[in-house]
Amino acid sequence: TTRIERHHYDVVVIGAGGAGLRAAIEARLAGKKTAIISKSLFGKAHTVMAEGGAAAAMGNVNSRDNWMVHYRDTMRGGKFLNNFRMAELHAKEAPDRIWELETYGALFDRTKDGKISQRNFGGHEYPRLAHVGDRTGLELIRTLQQKIVSLQQEDKAETGSYDSRIRVFAETTITELLLDGDKVAGAFGYYRESGEFVLFEAPAIVLATGGVGRSYKVTSNSWEYTGDGHALALRAGSTLINMEFLQFHPTGMVWPPSVKGILVTESVRGDGGVLKNSEGKRFMFQYVPDVFRKQYAETEEEGDRWYTDPDNNRRPPELLPRDEVARAINNEVKEGRGSPSGGVFLDIASRLPAEEVKRRLPSMYHQFKELAGVDITKEPMEVGPTCHYVMGGVEVDPDTGAAAGSVQGLFAAGEVSGGMHGSNRLGGNSLSDLLVFGKRAGEHAATYADALPARPKIAPADLDRAVEAALAPLERDGGENPYTLQQDLQAVMGDLVGIIRRKGELEESLVRLAELRERVSKVSATGGRRYNPGWHLALDLRNMLVVSECTAKAALEREESRGGHTREDFPAMNPQWRQVNLVCSLDGDKVRLEHKPLPKMRPELIQLFDRAELSKYLTDEELAEFDALAE
Ligand code: FAD
Repeated sequence: TTRIERHHYDVVVIGAGGAGLRAAIEARLAGKKTAIISKSLFGKAHTVMAEGGAAAAMGNVNSRDNWMVHYRDTMRGGKFLNNFRMAELHAKEAPDRIWELETYGALFDRTKDGKISQRNFGGHEYPRLAHVGDRTGLELIRTLQQKIVSLQQEDKAETGSYDSRIRVFAETTITELLLDGDKVAGAFGYYRESGEFVLFEAPAIVLATGGVGRSYKVTSNSWEYTGDGHALALRAGSTLINMEFLQFHPTGMVWPPSVKGILVTESVRGDGGVLKNSEGKRFMFQYVPDVFRKQYAETEEEGDRWYTDPDNNRRPPELLPRDEVARAINNEVKEGRGSPSGGVFLDIASRLPAEEVKRRLPSMYHQFKELAGVDITKEPMEVGPTCHYVMGGVEVDPDTGAAAGSVQGLFAAGEVSGGMHGSNRLGGNSLSDLLVFGKRAGEHAATYADALPARPKIAPADLDRAVEAALAPLERDGGENPYTLQQDLQAVMGDLVGIIRRKGELEESLVRLAELRERVSKVSATGGRRYNPGWHLALDLRNMLVVSECTAKAALEREESRGGHTREDFPAMNPQWRQVNLVCSLDGDKVRLEHKPLPKMRPELIQLFDRAELSKYLTDEELAEFDALAE
């Protein structure tokens, strides 16, 4: 028999990014015995890479900012397809979550009068991103980890052991959730280094596993981001929404090839950087869509004045939401006005003194210097779109983070959850999302565990099946190499389900994904269980595949263009489609897609918008309801 190490917890949090750490802190504060599990090293999650900042309407730099303005910006950014309740909670609670981080020891950059400084970012009406230079995520993770250490010290004083109430299992990958009927009973996985198996028995599990970017070749995401949490939720009987909406960040590095996709923070544009084509033209002025025309500058002069006098000028179009900028760059390159390496130019050198560039954007300065040999204080950068963030994710109850579908005891927060960002996420809204909904998920997972009359039990047969599935690639001979399969999957997704989509290509992608499913079911990995990345990838592949199928199916179904989903054959937004969430579930091992109505905004929230704006998004019936409210 196979040896399996066993642990018992009240709450298990899968993922040690911002959402996972914040959830774990809350579960521990509620008195629950809590485990934190992470696939990579503790401290190395996407959250740590976040550069720009965390959006919160504190009103420190412009006192006109408040939660209602932030709410409006978020809904606009998501093209009104956001779960309104999540956007509301997020806008209202983000400032408290930021201030709370200060009590954990965070040191944000300051305004002259000593308040937390806030910077401009795409789609945000006022300076709103609390930040630490361009290394905000690092500070966020650092302080959350520090808080966990301080809780462990309290526990040590009381119980004699640091690990008695909160313990971190780093380099541990969960491959399966185990259920007792429809209730969560535990999580099964392996230690990356030894390949030994481990079982966590727990009545409540929080998924905080982040994104899916590794299904695309050009991506800002690192190796762990294979949609594990999305797939675990599906297999446990939960549902995913909005999987057609992927964010292609407009500015990834395009050269040299070895680093293609690595992120160039939006702060470069927030701090004055401009995009130019090979003719030296600031092309974004040509790409302002009607829905945003009133809010953006019409001339370069006005756009430039905005940086110092935002009250009397409109923002430059380089700061449109990301989907707009990514499509514009894509088009410039397609029409032959790209840079030598197939991107466009991002110029900060001619806009700010060298010292200022180095002070405000130290990571970018080093990134280009070291990886590309480019001095961004002297030359422009070459940039192009890169797969960055998934708006879609586990369908959750907005207030508690409880996963929808048949399963109980499963919660999700952060990038792995869906709804909050609608069809497109604004920069900076993720770090605040992690804190707001991480806290909520941790709190409600604890409440759920408390209320259970009896602990769910794991059936030995289910555990055997999890072991068998994990060992299968090692025991199979003559199957395909996992790396070849990953490359083929990335080619299908990049070429056929990429930034611009067409019906025929999407149909072809589904055929190709079905072929890949066959091939992945026969994948084999050579070598043994000790530190074997080929084996790990073989296990990740089935997650990447099922999640990619959801994305491709939903992208084919949604016959409109909105946010992170652009259909060349349906280029406009369609108000009927705005009322629809596409919900993915598993029927056996088949991906099923259903339409579900989007929850309706409460009257006092919809009344935050004026009618002229709403008329660009809503159906005639919805507008009639809005008019009736006004009477
Ligand atoms: P992550 O931080 O992604 O953490 C996921 C965790 O889950 C990791 O610990 C991982 O090891 C673990 N995990 C995954 N699968 C498993 C498994 N099977 N078993 C066990 N553990 C698992 N957002 C902003 O708001 N502002 C920014 O300035 C910003 N800049 C960014 C820059 C870059 C380069 C990138 C990539 C993203 C940026 N984002 C930014 C987005 C933001 O960082 C992420 O969306 C966010 O950090 C996700 O946080 P999370 O807690 O949901 O998950």
